[in-house]
Amino acid sequence: MKFLPIFRLLSNYPFLSFAAKLFSEIEIEKELEKFPEILENAKRDIIVAINGKSNQKNPLNDIPCLECDLNCWKCSEIGIYENCNLCMNCFENCKISYSREAEEKIRLSAKVSVLSYISAKMLVSRLEDWVRMRYAVNEAEAFSEAFDDERDEILYILAKEMGIKLRGWNVYITSYLKASSRIKDDDWRLVNRFFIDGYVKTNRSQVVRIMKEFLRIRLFEKKNSFLSVLEPHLKEIESFVIKEKEKKVDLSFGDVDTNCFPPCMVEIISEIRKGMNVPHTARFALTSFLLNIGMKIDDIINIFSTAPDFDEEKSRYQIEHIAGMRGKGAEYTSPSCDTMRTYYNCIANCNVKHPLIFYRNCKKRKKFRT
Ligand code: SF4
Repeated sequence: MKFLPIFRLLSNYPFLSFAAKLFSEIEIEKELEKFPEILENAKRDIIVAINGKSNQKNPLNDIPCLECDLNCWKCSEIGIYENCNLCMNCFENCKISYSREAEEKIRLSAKVSVLSYISAKMLVSRLEDWVRMRYAVNEAEAFSEAFDDERDEILYILAKEMGIKLRGWNVYITSYLKASSRIKDDDWRLVNRFFIDGYVKTNRSQVVRIMKEFLRIRLFEKKNSFLSVLEPHLKEIESFVIKEKEKKVDLSFGDVDTNCFPPCMVEIISEIRKGMNVPHTARFALTSFLLNIGMKIDDIINIFSTAPDFDEEKSRYQIEHIAGMRGKGAEYTSPSCDTMRTYYNCIANCNVKHPLIFYRNCKKRKKFRT
């Protein structure tokens, strides 16, 4: 069936750039009226992200697109698909035979998936940055779980489509830097890596990690177009966002004056307390901030105890490392507001250059008043 595997790809990975080109705005409006589940899916993805719950994807896996020995996957004979130029001829030559009913099911699944994705993107693009960021982080996490189980050949196509330059499982330096600059882990620093002809030596699981970062960037990008049919759904999500922001976070940690925490740190703590999987950059920012203002290590561990991947021993090790009690013995200073903005961890404009200045100014004002 010509091109049938492409529909499986679109169904599982609706963020592929050619997916958005398949429908005009008029067609999207018509389809949204025909299939109400599209909007329900889009809203669910956004609300789940705001709530900090994990969003599971259910990939379609029932197209054995690599078992065919016709002209499919000729590129694989050359090497590990590194010469793939996304021509998609392998899909064009595909001769898998499916029943009409099964084929319809696959095509419909692709349509619903792509249109749900486009609708969700249009909706989050109209919401505050922090909502868009939560959506991007949550969805990238969910898709990257599917990448883990994906066939090598498909993974290779996806990575290329996202703009990641690969040779085998090694990643070209510019692609590597774009992702690694957002990963706060010494292993990812360039000085700790090996190179072969401009390619950084990486393995399959590291390529998946890089894909996740590229995808997060793609998902965070704003979509300029909007459809009037989405207006009532946008209002519904906006009122949910307002309620979410009104929820008070209980912060009490011994002597540290939690009422003086800047909004970014309150937000990160609130996300962790809701069991959200916050990015490494936010964890590092919070840990170094709390250490800098004199919070005890046990209290910091306590904050992280609600994180979904919490491991006490690992957390203690990392916190002690940031505190300068391990490694080279240097205590880290928490990132400036500029750096916080770069990693999308800033959520307000407080007219300060550093979260620590926000905290100290607030403390000074309180002391002066008393
Ligand atoms: S301006 Fe600075 S202190 Fe305020 S939220 Fe942004 S990063 Fe935090």
